[in-house]
Amino acid sequence: MLGLMQNWPLLVSKLIEHADKFHGKSEIVTLTVEGGTHRYTWSDCHVRSKKVAQALHRMGVGEGDIIGTLAWNTYRHVELWYGISGMGAVAHTINPRLFKDQLIYIANHAEDKVLFLDTSFVPIIEAVADELPNIEAYIFMTDEEHMPETTLKNVYCYETLVEAEDGNYSWPELDENLASGLCYTSGTTGNPKGVLYSHRSNFLHTLVSLGADALGATAKDVFFPVVPMFHANAWGVPYCAAAVGCKLALAGPHFDGETLQKFIEDEGVSLTAAVPTVWLALLAYLQSTGKGVGDLKRVVIGGSAAPRSMIQSFEDDYGVEVCHAWGMTETSPLGSVGVMTRETATWPKEKQLDIKCKQGRPVLGVEMEILDDDGNALPHDGKAFGHLVVRGPWVVKEYMKAEGGDIIDENGWFDTGDVSTLDELGFMQITDRSKDVIKSGGEWISSIELENAAVGHPDVAEAGVIGIFHPKWNERPLLILVLNEGATLDKDSIIKCLEKSVAKWWLPDDIITVDELPHTATGKILKMELREMYKDYKFPNA
Ligand code: AMP
Repeated sequence: MLGLMQNWPLLVSKLIEHADKFHGKSEIVTLTVEGGTHRYTWSDCHVRSKKVAQALHRMGVGEGDIIGTLAWNTYRHVELWYGISGMGAVAHTINPRLFKDQLIYIANHAEDKVLFLDTSFVPIIEAVADELPNIEAYIFMTDEEHMPETTLKNVYCYETLVEAEDGNYSWPELDENLASGLCYTSGTTGNPKGVLYSHRSNFLHTLVSLGADALGATAKDVFFPVVPMFHANAWGVPYCAAAVGCKLALAGPHFDGETLQKFIEDEGVSLTAAVPTVWLALLAYLQSTGKGVGDLKRVVIGGSAAPRSMIQSFEDDYGVEVCHAWGMTETSPLGSVGVMTRETATWPKEKQLDIKCKQGRPVLGVEMEILDDDGNALPHDGKAFGHLVVRGPWVVKEYMKAEGGDIIDENGWFDTGDVSTLDELGFMQITDRSKDVIKSGGEWISSIELENAAVGHPDVAEAGVIGIFHPKWNERPLLILVLNEGATLDKDSIIKCLEKSVAKWWLPDDIITVDELPHTATGKILKMELREMYKDYKFPNA
C-alpha cells in the first residue's frame, strides 16, 4: 500500500524560495571582488536568482545545459548558483586554483556552454580561451563600471544582463533526480572526475547537514563559509543558510588572517567552515596581534585532518567549539562529524581531545564500513584500519561520462581511497589516503598521524610525511617540515615531541625542512609532487 502523503520534488529552488518567504530580511553580506562591502537580503537574492534564470533562458540556455562558474564566494555567485539550478541547468563550479591543463580538461569534459567569471580570473581564461571551443559566451560577474579590457570574444556584463530582466518568473517543477550541480574532484592522480549532484541529493544533504549534531546552523547564526563554493559546494553551506534563513557572510577573494578576523568580528560571525590551512593563518594572526574572534561559537574543520594543537587553541584560547568533519566531493561532501556524545561529554578534557582529533561519526544517510584488501569488514575497535567505504543517497554512483568505470562494488559501497579506523562509539579516524600510507616491513604507518604530531611542536608551521625506499623495510617515513619564522631545525626536540603520540617504529628516519610544501587546488598537501621531489632521496642510515 502506498502512503498518502504529498510528493513534492526535492528541488534546490525550494530552499531559496523558503528563505525569501520566511527569512526575507535576513542578510547576505559580501566582501566584494571590486573592493568594499555589499549587503542585501535573501529576498533580494531570490529575485536576482530569478532574473539570472530569465537571462539564461534569453541566451538559449535550457534544461540540462552545463554552465560554468569561475568565482569566489560572493552574493552574485550564490544568486547565480540558485538561478542556474533552479531553471533546470547545471551549475558547474570550477576551481580557479587548478592547473591550466586541468582547467581546460574540466571545462571541455563538462562541455560548459556559458562561463560566468569574476574579473580576477579574466587573465587565466584569456590564456586558455582558444582551447575552450564549447563556450558560447563569457559573462563577467561585475557591473559596467568595472568591466575590464579583454581579448575574449562574446563577453557580457553580468549586471547589465540581470538588470534587464523583471524577475517575474516561477521556478519549474523539475524532476528531483535531475542534475543540479557539478564539481570535479581535485584529482591528485589522473584527470579530475566529475561528480554530478542531483536536486534530491543536495536537498537531503541539506536537511541532514543542518542537524545540531552536524553543522548545527540556526536562524540565529551568522554563517561564514570560508570554504569556497568551488570546493564541494562550500560544503553545502549556501544551501543550509537558505534553509534556515540565517545571515550569510561571504569574503569574496579574501583568505588572509587579518581580513578573516576583522570580518568575523565586524559581522558577528557565529559559525564558520574551512580547511586547516585557513585556520592556521587565522590562528597565527590572532596569536601575533592578541585580537579575538568576536561572537564566533563554532568552527567546522574538514578537508584535511584538524591538528590537535589547532583544536586545542580554538577551544582553550578562544572558547570556540571545534566540529571536525570528514567528507569528499563524492559525498556532497558531508560524511561524518565529530561532536560529543552523552558519554564522551563527561570524559576528561585530554581524552575528549583524542576523540575530537578523529573525523567523527557518520551522519544519518551515510553508511560506512572499513574493509580489508579482500573486502572483509574489519572490527570497529579503533585499532584495525582498512579501506573506508561509504554508501548513501548523496554519495556518488558514477562519475560524469562514466570516467573511471564502475566505482561501486556489488554491495553498493564506494571506496573513498581513505584508510581509517572505526571505534566502538562509531567514531571514524582517517589514518591515511590508501596511496599515501607508508608500508614499512609489511606494517602500515599513517603519514597523517605523523604530520599531526609534528604540527604539535611549537617550531613547526606545516608538516608533510612521505614514504621513501628503504633497503630493509621497503619504505620508511621522511618528515618534511616548514618551520615557523625564526625557528631552526632541532631534530631531537621534534623526535621527542613525536614520541609522545606515535609508536617508536613509526618515527621518521630523517627530518628535513623546506620553505613551502606543495598544495593541491583545495589546500591538501600534494604528496605526489613531494614524492617526485624526493624520489632520489636516500636516508643517511640506509
Ligand atoms: P575533496 O574531495 O577535495 O574534498 O577531498 C576529499 C578527501 O579529503 C577525503 O577523501 C580525505 O582524504 C580528505 N579529508 C576530508 N576531510 C578530512 C578530515 N577531516 N581529515 C582528514 N582527511 C580529510
